[in-house]
Amino acid sequence: MIDLRSDTVTRPSEAMRDAARDASVGDDVYGEDPSVNELQTRAAEVLGTEAALFVPSGTMGNQVAARTHTERGQELLCERESHIYKWELAGLAQHAALQPRTLDGGERGVVTPAQVRDGCVEASDHRPGTGLLSLENTHNSKGGTAHSPDDVAAAAEAAHDLGIPVHLDGARLFNAATAHDVAASAFVDHVDSVMCCLSKGLGAPVGSILAGSLSFVDAARRNRKLLGGGMRQAGMIAAPGLRALENRHRLGADHRRAARLADGIDQVDGLTVTPPETNVVLVETDRPAEAFLDDCESEGLLGVPFDDHVVRFCTHWDVDDGDVDRAIDAVARAT
Ligand SMILES: *Cc1c(COP(=O)(O)O)cnc(C)c1O
Repeated sequence: MIDLRSDTVTRPSEAMRDAARDASVGDDVYGEDPSVNELQTRAAEVLGTEAALFVPSGTMGNQVAARTHTERGQELLCERESHIYKWELAGLAQHAALQPRTLDGGERGVVTPAQVRDGCVEASDHRPGTGLLSLENTHNSKGGTAHSPDDVAAAAEAAHDLGIPVHLDGARLFNAATAHDVAASAFVDHVDSVMCCLSKGLGAPVGSILAGSLSFVDAARRNRKLLGGGMRQAGMIAAPGLRALENRHRLGADHRRAARLADGIDQVDGLTVTPPETNVVLVETDRPAEAFLDDCESEGLLGVPFDDHVVRFCTHWDVDDGDVDRAIDAVARAT
């Protein structure tokens, strides 16, 4: 079976398992796990922030960020298809008592400075005030679109001009950096916090990073604890995470394979493909997505439904060029 449901389905390599087994560990709730500390120091370096915090998942990273930047009852401004709003069980309401206000970022999910200015609400006797702007790059629901550093800077500047901090959901930030051939810091320099996943495309079995200023990370550590994310000998998972961070260079291969997959599928009658910007391929089908995916599965290929007639395929470390060719054949037989 060729599994293109997500770049999270990769199995830890021998190197990852070695890293876990050989990790030096301590109690991270006391700040004494050397592997966690090394990962956090290196992540801050790579992202260009003062500090970084290891969190078990991207969802926890986003939720901790939202809670850390805001006060109860404020508004959080985000794109209407953003993960933090759409796919995190209304955590913004549950964990931070925030009211989301959404913006329509169009086909690619890019939020403009004018939209940010219009969407921000000033606190008054009747209005709660906007506590945070959350951006997403790459934008998952829009098909892994890679917004440019200038796009991120422009939206962030509009929020900052109004005194509002900015969080970047960069679950796949290194894919965006790869697509634009820049360092991740080219995006992070413009925002107040960033989350990125080590478990998506980089080969770590688990874990994400939340990064920002020293004072932000100190406050975030308390909120991580509050949400149950204080971990003990977490070096067992942080050591593979550190390796994952050094695998950023490999994401270009996923992007090339996504382009090849898209070209191949586009030749098949009844299917329309949006040219991928990163490792996500969205395919529009004449038939209902679920029925099409059932037939793909019978032909040895897995994807996920994204809309009634849209299916997502995602390239990752555990598929090679041959798998991509076989995936194209499977799609052709399924149609
Ligand atoms: C996957 C993802 C998350 C959440 O990460 P988990 O580790 O699955 O909790 C957040 N934001 C975006 C854009 C994602 O793609």
